[in-house]
Amino acid sequence: MKTIAVLGSTGSIGTQTLEVVRENNDLQVAALAAGSNIVLLEKQIREFAPKAVAVWDEKSASELKESVKDLDVKVVSGMEGLIEISTLPEVEILVTAIVGMIGILPTIEAIKAKKDIALANKETLVTAGHIIMPLAKECGVRILPVDSEHSAIFQSLNGENPKRIGKILLTASGGPFRGKTKSFLEKVRLEDALKHPNWAMGQKITIDSATLVNKGLEVMEAKWLFGVDLDKIQVVIQPQSIIHSMVEYVDGAIMAELGTPDMKLPIQYALYYPDRKYLGGERLDFWKLSQITFEKPDMDTFLGLPLAFQASKAGGSMPTVFNAANERAVSKFLHKEIRFLDIYDIIMYCMEEHKTIQNPTVEEILATEQATYELIESRW
Ligand code: NAD
Ligand code: MG
Repeated sequence: MKTIAVLGSTGSIGTQTLEVVRENNDLQVAALAAGSNIVLLEKQIREFAPKAVAVWDEKSASELKESVKDLDVKVVSGMEGLIEISTLPEVEILVTAIVGMIGILPTIEAIKAKKDIALANKETLVTAGHIIMPLAKECGVRILPVDSEHSAIFQSLNGENPKRIGKILLTASGGPFRGKTKSFLEKVRLEDALKHPNWAMGQKITIDSATLVNKGLEVMEAKWLFGVDLDKIQVVIQPQSIIHSMVEYVDGAIMAELGTPDMKLPIQYALYYPDRKYLGGERLDFWKLSQITFEKPDMDTFLGLPLAFQASKAGGSMPTVFNAANERAVSKFLHKEIRFLDIYDIIMYCMEEHKTIQNPTVEEILATEQATYELIESRW
């Protein structure tokens, strides 16, 4: 039996994690956390019988308390609640499928409490990788990637000496606007940006895939997870999303993980690592597929990628500014308050205005996030 807790259980990764639990009788759920969708959370409580749940919003937490009072489940709220359920003694693996920098503190506390982390929340490593990775090493816990690209890299590193990595080939679908020009992007609507060609994901990450900001965040995530320099990470557009990423070794050999796009595979792999379990679903049919193609990313049009490299090179608090500016810009785009290309303008403006703090503490990271939000509100 393995006992897990899922932060963000009502989201795209969270619900797919629970599907994996449903299909395996040796996994059990000790705790769940969600933002405000208490209708779905209540259903999950009734099905998976966790010992405790956290709801961010206090009012929703009281409502939920009332509706599950026939059950033996503790309902907590806010950051304190998130930390409480992330560090429950029985939890062995914490799945961080929450969206945003809110994931940093619970992840840190879970690591200190010696829980392995199945990490989907890329913002945690992007902004606090310099704190998380050494802490995980010190506490002897594993950071198991859930992001499909990082899982593919992780699988391609199995049994290899990480010192022999030549480079990491991070694949990207290119999103719904691959091949389009700047003038086309000026006119795109929210509905177009939400149509990802291969993956069904949460709204925020879907927009990030269209801007290539997601790939930029993944470059930074890979840098921390695998301890490689930025210049050893190359982004390759692979529009069919069949090759989930690759590692090239010093002798020129390339290892890759391929398959049909299904997030349940990386989720399940993280939960059972280093073992593999049966997973239902479609298998890759090479006859039907017939070809896998490659392209160079268009860095002049899709500024999400070059801006991420720039933020990562500056280091310190700059990736936080990149991430926070993007988070707020995407939220405005989702509310139809700004146009698609304004997302880049907002990120650029915030990065230009920021004076990098090297080696920021968690407090400084969260203060930088807040300052970035305030800067945006003062102008847009
Ligand atoms: P989503 O928007 O579908 O779900 C987010 C979840 O977080 C929801 O359950 C929501 O209730 C919860 N949440 C939000 N704010 C909260 C708060 N303050 N307190 C408690 N819970 C809160 O997002 P998603 O697409 O599942 O993505 C989650 C994370 O995984 C993101 O960091 C994303 O970048 C990463 N990721 C997602 C995918 C994917 O396929 N969806 C792939 C790779 C990585
Ligand atoms: Mg990914």
